[in-house]
Amino acid sequence: MQISVQLSWLEIATNHPQSLRLNLPIAIGKDATSLPQSIDGDQVEQMILNDRSVSRYHALLAFDRENVVVIDQNSTNGMLVNGILIDRSVELCKVLSSGDRLTIGRYEITIAFDLSATSKTIITGAPSNSVKLASTVSTILFNPETGLPQANVTQPSLASASNFPPNFFQLPMVEVQSLHQTGLPVYETTYGAIGGGLGSYIWADYLRIFGVAVDQIVALGLEPQPYARYKRLCLNSQIPLYERLRSNSESCPDNIWGFPSYAWREAWHDFTQGKIDKTCKYLWQVFAEPDLAETYTPRSGNVFDSIDREASRIGWDKIYRYGRVRSLRKTDDGRYAIAYSLGQGNHAFLVAKYLHLAVGYAAIQFLPDLQAYRSQTEDFRAVVNGYEEHEHIYQHLENHGGTVLIRGRGIVASRIVQRISEIRQRSPQQKINLLHLMRSPKAQGNSYGRAQRTVDNHYEFQPFNWPKAC
Ligand SMILES: Cc1cc2nc3c(=O)[nH]c(=O)nc-3n(C[C@H](O)[C@H](O)[C@H](O)COP(=O)(O)OP(=O)(O)OC[C@H]3O[C@@H](n4cnc5c(N)ncnc54)[C@H](O)[C@@H]3O)c2cc1C
Repeated sequence: MQISVQLSWLEIATNHPQSLRLNLPIAIGKDATSLPQSIDGDQVEQMILNDRSVSRYHALLAFDRENVVVIDQNSTNGMLVNGILIDRSVELCKVLSSGDRLTIGRYEITIAFDLSATSKTIITGAPSNSVKLASTVSTILFNPETGLPQANVTQPSLASASNFPPNFFQLPMVEVQSLHQTGLPVYETTYGAIGGGLGSYIWADYLRIFGVAVDQIVALGLEPQPYARYKRLCLNSQIPLYERLRSNSESCPDNIWGFPSYAWREAWHDFTQGKIDKTCKYLWQVFAEPDLAETYTPRSGNVFDSIDREASRIGWDKIYRYGRVRSLRKTDDGRYAIAYSLGQGNHAFLVAKYLHLAVGYAAIQFLPDLQAYRSQTEDFRAVVNGYEEHEHIYQHLENHGGTVLIRGRGIVASRIVQRISEIRQRSPQQKINLLHLMRSPKAQGNSYGRAQRTVDNHYEFQPFNWPKAC
């Protein structure tokens, strides 16, 4: 029988509420390699708390004699239950009630569970390693795109990574010699870029333009096209290839001089097609923006095509290497060691003199009530974030109609309204309801001096803001 517990806490680094449902037993600690993967041949779930005050293997949550218990694993700092320090000279194993607060290091974790459905005793024996598991369970796999747990999938990467990176990566500095002693491949380069996305690509582009040879740069990432992740997020948030981005005309990741800009290029393209009116429109926009004309922004498809051309020019295919980066450390000779995996049981190191780190947005955030709903129900299809893949919702509306509730009124919300409105026009026979929930009415836009933002339908139109890439 599986007994699952809901673990809720505030993430220290971001102060964002987090929630996970895991099956017992759950090993808690800061180092995945120190946590047991199985006890008595059965699988253990792992909860990693990234905090110095947490021991490598701090505690075990388990089911013992019809109780959920927490067992201290000889941790350095011990733990508190509902604010009271567990006296380890008296008890190592503490029975928990649903709703109890467990303090481990700086983390305060609320534990919730329901034992009403459980039957007879499953467990025998004393604390720790003699605990018998309720059943074999899968570990939680985090979806790299959404940052959310995926239900019922085993996580080969964690298991395979059990002894990788090696223990000496716990130290702030590693010896290059120890990397070689592992017997794993050790590659060396001058410039190492982590992520392989747009940030890495732009850095590599600059280096190449300033004369660095292609074999001196390595970009480690998960997808060969530098814009792959960005494109996916754009498509999910309803910016198809023919729609326009927010960057302006000269913010060109593929052209550090900004000329010819996207506007010039589009104008020239349309001119050669005989579309004089459009040519004039784009040129007028770039001369008159932002006061007399809307700021020009490029079509996403054009941007991706230009990046492809520049990528091929600078030899990006020789720079990019597939690799999931697991850890970075300084080396004893003043460089950086990057431990990365190419697949299950397939690991390597890269040593670089200079390091550039650009791994994109950390995760997609939900409001706490939505996060709780998704964690509890594991329903990742009906409640979605605009940046997640949710094409199935539009398909459903087109084929069966339905009601959509949108929360928020940012740029993504406006794109979703646009898409649904297009479906309504295309499929008038379907009954499609749209409820747009906004936190507060917006009668008037923000103002600065005599400038005032326009408001329409409680949407405030924000003028173009300079993109991060600038
Ligand atoms: C819908 C949308 C529209 C946007 N519009 C604009 C715009 O108009 N103009 C603008 O300038 N910016 C825009 N942005 C922002 C822009 O996308 C980001 O600023 C930019 O992509 C950041 O570059 P990056 O390299 O840090 O991240 P990314 O381009 O996301 O690349 C990060 C890469 O790191 C990889 N990675 C993560 N972890 C690891 C790991 N452990 N090992 C190996 N690889 C890893 C990821 O797979 C990813 O490929 C927009 C963003 C979105 C989502």
